[in-house]
Amino acid sequence: MYPRKDSNPGTSMFSLLNDSYIDHQRIIIVGAGFGGLLNAVRLLQTGNFGPKDILFLDAASGFGGTWCWNEYPGLMCDIESYIYMPLLEETGYMPSHKYVSGVEIKEHVYRIVRMYGLYHRALLCTSVNSLVWDEDEMNWTVKAVQHRHQGIFPLTFTADFVILTANPVSIPKLPNIDGISDFQGKKFHMERWDYKVTGGSADLPVLQKLRDKKVAIIGTGATAVQVVPHLAEWSQKLYVFQRTPSAVDRRDNCPTDAQWWAETVSQGPGWQTKRMENFNDFVSNAPNLPDVDLVNDEWSRAHSYSALFGGPQNRNPGYLKEMEMVDLLRQDKIRNRVSQVVERKKTADLLKPWYSGWCKRPCFHDEYLQAFNNPNVELIDTNGKGVVCVTQKGVVTNQIEYEVDVLIFATGNNVTDRKTPDARSDMFISGRGQKSMRMAWRDGVATLHGLTTRGFPNLFFPGPNQAGITANYTYFLDQMAQHVAYIISSATKEQGPYKVTVEPSIEGQEAWSREVMMRADGLAGMANCAPGYFNMEEDFDQSKVPEEVLKAARAKHWGEGVMDWVKILEDWREKGGMKGLEVKRLKKIITNE
Ligand SMILES: Cc1cc2nc3c(=O)[nH]c(=O)nc-3n(C[C@H](O)[C@H](O)[C@H](O)COP(=O)(O)OP(=O)(O)OC[C@H]3O[C@@H](n4cnc5c(N)ncnc54)[C@H](O)[C@@H]3O)c2cc1C
Repeated sequence: MYPRKDSNPGTSMFSLLNDSYIDHQRIIIVGAGFGGLLNAVRLLQTGNFGPKDILFLDAASGFGGTWCWNEYPGLMCDIESYIYMPLLEETGYMPSHKYVSGVEIKEHVYRIVRMYGLYHRALLCTSVNSLVWDEDEMNWTVKAVQHRHQGIFPLTFTADFVILTANPVSIPKLPNIDGISDFQGKKFHMERWDYKVTGGSADLPVLQKLRDKKVAIIGTGATAVQVVPHLAEWSQKLYVFQRTPSAVDRRDNCPTDAQWWAETVSQGPGWQTKRMENFNDFVSNAPNLPDVDLVNDEWSRAHSYSALFGGPQNRNPGYLKEMEMVDLLRQDKIRNRVSQVVERKKTADLLKPWYSGWCKRPCFHDEYLQAFNNPNVELIDTNGKGVVCVTQKGVVTNQIEYEVDVLIFATGNNVTDRKTPDARSDMFISGRGQKSMRMAWRDGVATLHGLTTRGFPNLFFPGPNQAGITANYTYFLDQMAQHVAYIISSATKEQGPYKVTVEPSIEGQEAWSREVMMRADGLAGMANCAPGYFNMEEDFDQSKVPEEVLKAARAKHWGEGVMDWVKILEDWREKGGMKGLEVKRLKKIITNE
């Protein structure tokens, strides 16, 4: 993984490091996005750790993960910011709008970093290449490289605990199209936006350099939906190359009313968690829905997405059929909206989604469809095939060459074949007995609670296999963070001068994996979807042999939905005793702290 071109390792700790410096850390967190930050904050809140016990390593040049790497015009969250932006209650921050820009989210990232004293606890532009468990020393050896202006420098650390929050959504995916390197104009991926080419900046996306340019954007997924209106406004000519149309529902963004916020939204301790869980109930279609839908937007009304995320009713006979009907109505509404908004009938027909809604990330935007009414915007549909090739001058599809000056890839992130936590983090992980994670999971995924696996002591990762997931990803990350903080804190509480290891017992992780498999039928709706980002690129080949079917079932997330998973984790913590985990205190004196 490579940092941005304009990267600078940043924090003052960098100046303390010599090349190949070897340092021992209590807890290393790989990834300084919301996942990493939430893990750090929840550890600090146990009272057993201070900022000095934590070191972030991140390939990016700043904190924020997704919100650091992405700076494209129009970037914003599509989940309501009051539930998406974590720790609003703790920071006391009121988001400016119901859905906020990437710039505002990044500011919030730094609000959290400052509030919890984490600014100097990160090594940035630092890509971790490997984690190797050292059974003699009872710790992890972490090898990384730091990208500095002068070159690439190797770094080695040891750590008692490692928390992985590295995430493949930070790794842009370039399409496998012939001739990409032949193109003579300017080209870049959406998620590494090049303002030198377009003009403007993330703060002020005035793309004046495109005024006399023909621009092509390849891809019409969630990120393209956000940027197309900006390109339509500034480009002389814009070609939008589409493989599959997105389902684009209403956004209805609005400023936050300060009085309403104070009197209605941010009321009472735990208000944000309650709001998040209210949203989860609606998206996972809980049987006794709360009286009020607090978020009350097109996401919270998308009950059929329970087929994807899991939910308490998913295993009821006939539930999938029922959701197919709900989804059909929702997709019909979206198709009708296209007809109402897009003036050219042929273009409108091509922009209508034809698949089950839950197969693709839903989009919400009030200017995307409208952009196709601009005379300078042309939709080039490829009938599901994608573009044929790129030439020196432009893009070829349907036997036509479209000559352009600028080529932008909105082709998403690299999640294909990233089925284990090490692959998702772009690194090699070797556990006890030098076993790689890929080998350990050769016969199927095995975890306790989706967050830790046997043979890899003191290592934690954010599912998503065998964990509960929801549309609001930061809620899931926070649940992980609270659970991991509890486990590390409990395991080390009476550590004294001894080393501690914690990992699932064989029985513990087999029992959990069985529970996951038993609920996998609740996710049968995903079988109708083509492999993609939303189903972790899984190919639901009907002709699978029974062993493969069982293996696929073990790899699923929690079929009865995120709230059921959270309840199990809360009860487990409440009960104490850390059932399913083996905690060992070893008589090896810690000498290097
Ligand atoms: C454009 C966009 C919009 C989104 N909008 C929403 C939304 O509205 N709602 C929602 O719920 N989710 C949204 N998401 C998903 C979003 O990624 C998550 O909500 C969340 O920010 C993920 O946080 P994270 O910390 O898990 O991962 P990330 O934010 O991806 O951070 C992971 C970090 O790990 C680092 N890393 C990875 N591998 C290594 C390595 N080997 N060595 C060192 N560092 C490494 C990366 O550099 C990165 O900084 C969006 C994603 C994108 C791309």
